[in-house]
Amino acid sequence: MTHDYHLAREKMVKNQLLPRGISDPKVLEIMSQIHRHLFVEEALISEAYNDHPLPIGNKQTISQPYIVALMTEALELKGTEKVLEIGTGSGYQTAILANLSKAVYTVERIEPLLVKSRQLLGKLGYANIYFKLSDGTIGWKEFAPYDAIMVTAGAPTIPQPLLDQLADHGKMVIPIGDRSSQDLILVKKNQGRFLEKNLGGCRFVDLIGNHGWKD
Ligand code: SAH
Repeated sequence: MTHDYHLAREKMVKNQLLPRGISDPKVLEIMSQIHRHLFVEEALISEAYNDHPLPIGNKQTISQPYIVALMTEALELKGTEKVLEIGTGSGYQTAILANLSKAVYTVERIEPLLVKSRQLLGKLGYANIYFKLSDGTIGWKEFAPYDAIMVTAGAPTIPQPLLDQLADHGKMVIPIGDRSSQDLILVKKNQGRFLEKNLGGCRFVDLIGNHGWKD
């Protein structure tokens, strides 16, 4: 019998997202629908909805559900946006963004991860996601500016190219700190000026690249 983990998703929303203050109905709804267990390795399927990150191979992780919700909610997507995501990883966050925006441009530096997530998201029927194998710290200039940017790896500072590629009135969410812990920073661009808000502590794998950590 196939199992779609419907109950596990409901519990995840009820026990992990709502009590911690996630309240955007669109974010809660999409997280109760997307089959997170498809984005993890087969041996970890039973843990897919647990309250922590999980390994996805190549020393990378799929983010904890709450962090995915928090970052998504912070972007306040209406459905019309062009979104840039840095760090495709498993493609789980990509799927959520693709449901809540017009198009997602996602950049990943590790080829096997990009290939796998592109294949899965294609199989699931997504037609508004564009993939690029590259160093995402330089952004994706060709399609800039972006209404929203999400970086799902931790950086020492906000990469300047990402600030440049953010649209006016655009929002970016990015973990900034040292290699062991970061603060989740929300950046809003307003007529060339940047307003920053700290959304709290978090722990991500390294953003590695030209404007990130050295490999
Ligand atoms: N959102 C993903 C997170 C994966 S972990 C998920 O939930 O599955 C972070 C990802 O960022 C890793 O896949 C890592 O390879 C990638 N990454 C790190 N530095 C990068 C860079 N400079 N450009 C693109 N991707 C990068």
